[in-house]
Amino acid sequence: MSDQTRFMLNETDLPKNWYNVLADSPIPPAPVLNPMTKEPITPEFLSVLFPMEIIQQEVSTDRYIEIPEEVREIYKLYRPTPLVRARRLEKALGTPAHIYFKNESVSPVGSHKPNTAIPQAFYNKVAGTKAMTTETGAGQWGTSLAMACNFFGIDLEVYMVRVSYNQKPYRRIFMQTYGAQVFASPSERTEYGRALLAQDPDNNGSLGIAISEAVQMAATSGGTKKYSLGSVLNHVLMHQTVIGEEALKQMDLAGEYPDVVIGCVGGGSNFAGIAYPFLRQNLKDGQRTRLLAVEPTATPSLTKGAYTFDYGDTAQMAPIVKMYTLGHTFMPAGIHAGGLRYHGMAPSVSALYDAGYIDAIAVSQIGTFDAALQFTNAEGILPAPESAHAIRVAIDEALDAKAKGEKRVILFNLSGHGHFDMTAYQSYLNGELVDYEYPAHAIEEAMKDLPQVAVEA
Ligand SMILES: *Cc1c(COP(=O)(O)O)cnc(C)c1O
Repeated sequence: MSDQTRFMLNETDLPKNWYNVLADSPIPPAPVLNPMTKEPITPEFLSVLFPMEIIQQEVSTDRYIEIPEEVREIYKLYRPTPLVRARRLEKALGTPAHIYFKNESVSPVGSHKPNTAIPQAFYNKVAGTKAMTTETGAGQWGTSLAMACNFFGIDLEVYMVRVSYNQKPYRRIFMQTYGAQVFASPSERTEYGRALLAQDPDNNGSLGIAISEAVQMAATSGGTKKYSLGSVLNHVLMHQTVIGEEALKQMDLAGEYPDVVIGCVGGGSNFAGIAYPFLRQNLKDGQRTRLLAVEPTATPSLTKGAYTFDYGDTAQMAPIVKMYTLGHTFMPAGIHAGGLRYHGMAPSVSALYDAGYIDAIAVSQIGTFDAALQFTNAEGILPAPESAHAIRVAIDEALDAKAKGEKRVILFNLSGHGHFDMTAYQSYLNGELVDYEYPAHAIEEAMKDLPQVAVEA
């Protein structure tokens, strides 16, 4: 075991391939359905929204997919990212456990999301795409794609959930510095947005609504605009596996192997990114690492949702997938972890959780910020409120190990920093935060709107 604190890799150690969990997953993927016909989706439907290379990756069962050289060159702006042993946090907790974190906050925009934004913009560039659309909740994804599109000379319009657009002007300005156009969603630009605003001019928006608007803009552009999603889909999760592939090598440098790997889950991409390479080692190499997904009690799709077919967006324009869902009409409470407020969960994470290969836990908002402050005071990094969900559970694991007098090796993903989340920290410091439990009756109500599909759920 090493006495170092930071475990660094060289540029030459940057992974050459993404890992595709579908090659090893014991559960065959459920069909993806066309939202109109409810029949299995065709590549023609998808090709309106995505370039062919992305569609092929979405359905691929190849174990490894080579990372293009052009993408690796841009990854080198911030990758490989550090693996850090949180020695000061361990000491503060008085735990015999060893806590490691993978620091994805060092990317230029401050989160893991460029890991997929860069290849998605690249494949669009290769396919001749001139303009793209996307949605963003808290602004992390929009910023990442804005940077990537700027690098590849592609125009970008971003539909930003209205409440964030108003509360987080700095993220919006950050996107604009990369040349992106940013619109508050619901917007006047789409039929769906106009209909919602006519009903309620103060509609706060949601990720599901913003997705509908971005999809509609691309789908009705006559082929001039493509759409991009920052989480949930297979190809997105696959691009994120550079995190776990690097972490495997770095744990090796540390001379340890994790007993538990922890990540927060919104759509599932940063969790899958760190966890899937360790899942491969469980499935193929006899390892027994526990993989733990952490969600807010305010959006408990894995721990309280239903595993069934549902629309990916609110307006029922996005494909229907089998996933853990709170219902596509879900309106989230105004918690500060904006990146975790999606109604569903990635189909692969959902399937693996359903089959018991992944564990999940929900944590409340105040406890999450308590953990964020403990982490900041020990390690100096101010985490994103999303990432603080993983920190909460890493600390709880370390305290559990302490109570049991066990040595435990804990690895969590620090998916981003919280430099644009000062309003949230201010609310916390002022004692103004409240905890939300998503009410069971609201889930029941939303389940009435699920699509009726012919395939067996
Ligand atoms: C977007 C985001 C998340 C949640 O998205 P996933 O796809 O579940 O990873 C988590 N952390 C940060 C910092 C984010 O920006």
